[in-house]
Amino acid sequence: MTDVLDKITPDETTDAPTAPDARHWRKEAKGDLIVLWLDCADTGTNVISEAVLRELDTLLDHVKAAQPKALVIRSAKPGGFAAGADIDGFAGLRDDDAVQMLQQGHTVLDKLAGLPFPTVAVVHGATLGGGFELALACDYRIGIDGVKLGFPEIQLGLHPGLGGTFRLTSLIDPTEAMQMMLTGKSTHDRKAKKLGILDALVPDRHVDAAIDAAANGKMKREHGGFRASALRTGVARNLAATRMRSESEKKAPRAHFPAPFALIDLWEDHGDDADDMQKAEITSFANLLGTPTAQNLIRVFFLRRTLKSAGKGEDGIAHVHVIGAGAMGAEIAAWSAMQGKRVTIEDVKLDPLGSAIKSAARIYDKKHLSGIEKRDALDRLMPDPEGLGRSRADLVIEAAPEKLDLKEKIYASLVDVMKPGAILATNTSSLKLSSLVDAAPDPALFAGLHFFNPVSQMPLVEVVSHDMASTDTLDRLAAFTTGIDRLPARVKDYPGFLVNRILAPYLMEAMVMLDEGYDKEDIDRAALAFGMPMGPVTLADQVGLDICLEVANSMQEGLETPVADTPAWLREKVEKGETGKKAGKGLYDYNSEEAPDTPADDPDQQIIDRLILPMCNAAVECLRKGVAPDADTIDGAVIFGTGWAPFRGGPLHYAKTRRDVPRVLEQLADRHGPRFTPDPGWSDLA
Ligand code: NAD
Repeated sequence: MTDVLDKITPDETTDAPTAPDARHWRKEAKGDLIVLWLDCADTGTNVISEAVLRELDTLLDHVKAAQPKALVIRSAKPGGFAAGADIDGFAGLRDDDAVQMLQQGHTVLDKLAGLPFPTVAVVHGATLGGGFELALACDYRIGIDGVKLGFPEIQLGLHPGLGGTFRLTSLIDPTEAMQMMLTGKSTHDRKAKKLGILDALVPDRHVDAAIDAAANGKMKREHGGFRASALRTGVARNLAATRMRSESEKKAPRAHFPAPFALIDLWEDHGDDADDMQKAEITSFANLLGTPTAQNLIRVFFLRRTLKSAGKGEDGIAHVHVIGAGAMGAEIAAWSAMQGKRVTIEDVKLDPLGSAIKSAARIYDKKHLSGIEKRDALDRLMPDPEGLGRSRADLVIEAAPEKLDLKEKIYASLVDVMKPGAILATNTSSLKLSSLVDAAPDPALFAGLHFFNPVSQMPLVEVVSHDMASTDTLDRLAAFTTGIDRLPARVKDYPGFLVNRILAPYLMEAMVMLDEGYDKEDIDRAALAFGMPMGPVTLADQVGLDICLEVANSMQEGLETPVADTPAWLREKVEKGETGKKAGKGLYDYNSEEAPDTPADDPDQQIIDRLILPMCNAAVECLRKGVAPDADTIDGAVIFGTGWAPFRGGPLHYAKTRRDVPRVLEQLADRHGPRFTPDPGWSDLA
């Protein structure tokens, strides 16, 4: 792409009026074509902001006056076409202000759609949200291999708002279009071509030929076909919409996630009239923007940014060596190699090394790596049974079993072996770093790097400090985390660190309730109704009851605050080998039972309060104790580390909006014991 960019002469348009001062666009005359390059100033990623649209508006007047054979729109950023709309620009808008901003945007895209000559969007990489909508307003879309198109708005509690709802449902099979918008999932290159979103899919080197075909009317335009016409009738849409509603309701109730239902209503009511649908889209989007769900999910978007900002600069880490190729080590190695690091991985056994390579290949397929990208990532990932990488790596990550003496032995074997300046990080989840640090070759270059399982799906990594870790070590580990596209939360050495400290009461209280005779499904379904991704009984089985017991022990030993007692039967179950999902039997018997995945319709608020409020209490304790630097880091870490009900904005944010949490905790403490006593930190939070 850079060779094309080098040739750009921004204002060298044929007979067009002089281009206005545009900060985010560059105009290039290419024979009888005009190319508008989107190149947002001061950032590596394009987003569709109000300024981008305002400049485009003026540019389109100039282009129209110049009457080129065709207008081409493409991105000058190597990473993609555009990542979406500028969320900062609309997050704070409400009601009439939101409607006005949306109408202005629609006017610009309508102007593009109405130009009297062919318009061609050339899209590569991430083409999402507002960027996708810009491309949809063009007559033709040419995709470059590897492009992914999608509408992630639903993850913000919204639906597309710049014309996406009516343009995509008119372009392709509307049920496919609705599916894309309802799930927020991106569609990758070949699938997008098959669906008719792309008129052509070409390698980079063939783009000019494809543009030429489109400009000269030689490119066949794809349409939604028979189903699209059938779904223009109200009855057919009504049937399809009913099915979509019931599927959406299964995933998330309307009360928590209004956006899918607003989108389905929009299409059902207006799917046969693009003009009506456009007007209704604007109103519906503005209404959704004011809902607590959208506001909290937008908050989560910003929390992601806050976490990311904790890891900046150079990490000085090119080579990572992983010790232990089990569940965690294998994923950490595969992920790091995929993100461009050179990785060696060792284990005391050969089998795990073979499995690690196989599981890496599976992860790369799931992440839609191209053949070349997959080959390169696998080339960077080297099984190293002899541990040769130990002396060459800039970062050694220990992911050996959770046994103090074993870890100490491994550290002892690294003394005088690791290269000067190299960092040793442990992935331990329950051992205190203060108990491990004495065995580390250099305490200043030792810290925790606590990944969550599975690494390829869980974005959070806790960067754990201790009294002797140097700031430089922690900075490098945070930068490394961001560099491999994970989110760092900088936390202190504390029982369970931050996330597991907060999550533990959720699991432990569920055990107490089971002991009291509550039904396990009622407990799980109440938690799902609150918005947790998994009920605590199912989660305990998933994590492993043996590990839950270890976590409970470490909390009991390490915390000053009272915690729930673990029932004797839990220990007996573990001793019998009924350790959860991995054993086929735990709290559920996986041979005959299925853990529930649908929320309770009318959940017991007592159950919810007993499960959720202790997590809020633990979050306040962590804030008071400085386990994390601030409340946003805590909320972000809990959401990205556990999937904690994102539409509630995090445990501290939830507690702040609910207001009565300390009072309810006191009532629970009176009824069930001192583990519910409100933390002294509540007064500061208010
Ligand atoms: P695991 O048992 O799946 O894997 C450990 C691997 O280490 C095994 O393949 C084993 O053969 C190997 N090993 C044993 N001794 C070794 C040695 N001396 N040198 C090299 N390799 C050795 O364990 P896991 O679940 O991957 O956990 C590893 C670490 O990650 C633990 O500290 C655990 O607490 C932590 N952790 C686990 C999870 C999880 O969900 N599993 C999540 C976060 C952190």
